[in-house]
Amino acid sequence: MKFKGFKGALVVMIGLGQMTGLSMAQTACQDDLNCKSSWVGQDSKAMNRLFAFADDYKAFIAKARTELSFVEEAIKFAGKYNFKPLKSNSPMTAGARYYEVNRDRAISFIVIGKAPLDKGINVIGAHIDSPRLELKGRPLYSNGEFALFQTNFHGGIKNYQWTNIPLALMGRVDKKDGTTVAINVGLNPDDPVFVIADLSPHTDRGYGDKKVKAIIKKEDLDPIVGHIPNISGNNVGARVMAYLTATYGISRADLVSAELALVPAYAPRDLGFDRGLIAAYGQDDRLASYAAMRAISGLKAPQKTAMAYLVDNEEVGNRNNTGAKSAYFSSFVAGLLSRKLGTDYREVALKQTLRNSKMVSIDVNPGINPKNPGVWEAGNAPKLGYGVNIKLYGQGNSANSEYIAWTRNYLDKANVPWQTTTYKVGVAGGGTIGGEFSRQDMEVIDLGVPVLSIHTPYSISSKIDLYSLYRASRAFFNTGL
Ligand code: MN
Ligand code: MN
Repeated sequence: MKFKGFKGALVVMIGLGQMTGLSMAQTACQDDLNCKSSWVGQDSKAMNRLFAFADDYKAFIAKARTELSFVEEAIKFAGKYNFKPLKSNSPMTAGARYYEVNRDRAISFIVIGKAPLDKGINVIGAHIDSPRLELKGRPLYSNGEFALFQTNFHGGIKNYQWTNIPLALMGRVDKKDGTTVAINVGLNPDDPVFVIADLSPHTDRGYGDKKVKAIIKKEDLDPIVGHIPNISGNNVGARVMAYLTATYGISRADLVSAELALVPAYAPRDLGFDRGLIAAYGQDDRLASYAAMRAISGLKAPQKTAMAYLVDNEEVGNRNNTGAKSAYFSSFVAGLLSRKLGTDYREVALKQTLRNSKMVSIDVNPGINPKNPGVWEAGNAPKLGYGVNIKLYGQGNSANSEYIAWTRNYLDKANVPWQTTTYKVGVAGGGTIGGEFSRQDMEVIDLGVPVLSIHTPYSISSKIDLYSLYRASRAFFNTGL
């Protein structure tokens, strides 16, 4: 949507016009004591640009709600922006644009640079899985007048938040004959949805003394998936199974080899009268993944080769061969090098390339919540609308100070507003993919943007931070040797 001058607020936004990007020279938080919201000083052109970007983002994540669906949508995106599938004989010429999919659950985009590959790659890494429920291998059962699914969980969730909201079922079932059946129910307005039913207030009087975590246990997060019994009059589950077989050609046993996720079915929406915020499921970390994709899609022939590396399974510890711990990354870089070097390829060239590479691991992080500011130490806490944040974890987990300084330099040159983040010591924390790459001898820094209600069914981001992250990503890709 176009920004429709929100009267009153717009008064402070006019002025300081610039041709490209945002007008942020005056508002970046380099001096943290004199720091203003990035919104202050934006002209209507900049507002229209960042509102349009937010619309594109919302449309993308409306469909891309799991790693599988993200990769599907990203392949369409790749086609639109002229990235070709990487092949064994793809030329490594400056400006060439490729993508490669790892087992349908991770995707990388590259634009080949002018400098030799072993001078290093500029990599932005982000993850495309989000916290959700998923089906057990034997999910379907009947209980009285209902059929339900047994579920497991992926990532950190607060159980009670997943009750009484519309859930969609997305994923795949793999059959013994090698075929794959896609299932996607609940996102279209006329689809049915699935709901985990909590007690109504009339019947929950025993709840009063219970702790929040005890009210709904993880094992109890089973959505209702059917209600009409079969002909014998008592087996709702059998009727649901018959429906699945008739509709998808799958048996009960086929559900063992399946990856079926239950995700919130809400559409992404603008939030607030001024539409400055985005409410959506799964912004962790598809906000960063989308910004990185958009940034790399705008490159022509950068000096250094650029890569957007988008992986699965961050929310469960970077596991499996599609997660950030996988050797796939170094194999992928080795493959690029051997395309260039042919029989001259040696492992030392790979090690050199990794050593010379720079990575920005981007992952959203909790911003100050207006209802609970006390969980932060405010001087080192990220605020929505104040730009990208440099994560300073301490305890051996931060980037080294010279790489932080180098990062500040390109952000300041591009007028990207930035702030810093350190959790309240000893009482908060979270992980990212960054550590998996620093252990491979790469230079790694963690950036993020602050988001409210991360890991809930409907998280909240600021449109201007999303746009600032895109601009930060673009500035990083354009850094040279
Ligand atoms: Mn994350
Ligand atoms: Mn997360």
